[in-house]
Amino acid sequence: MVVRMRHTKGQTGSRRSHHALKAPTLSKCTNCGADHRPHHMCLNCGFYKGRVVIDLLAKKKSREDRMTAKREAIRGAAVDPVESK
Ligand SMILES: [Zn+2]
Repeated sequence: MVVRMRHTKGQTGSRRSHHALKAPTLSKCTNCGADHRPHHMCLNCGFYKGRVVIDLLAKKKSREDRMTAKREAIRGAAVDPVESK
């Protein structure tokens, strides 16, 4: 450490006095009652200001369908060579 960089414990402590983490502010969803960030859509049900912004249930279902199709394709590819022997 170079001498000009040296700080007293007090200076270091003063600088670090602002380093504490704060808990995030959360508000309750009016639709499902889950905690969500204020001025943000509820990540549990997709509601904001009393209306659906993103249909999370439909999104989840389409994702599951896609994953199932993918899994089936992989299973089919893995099973076929064994059956052909
Ligand atoms: Zn909600």
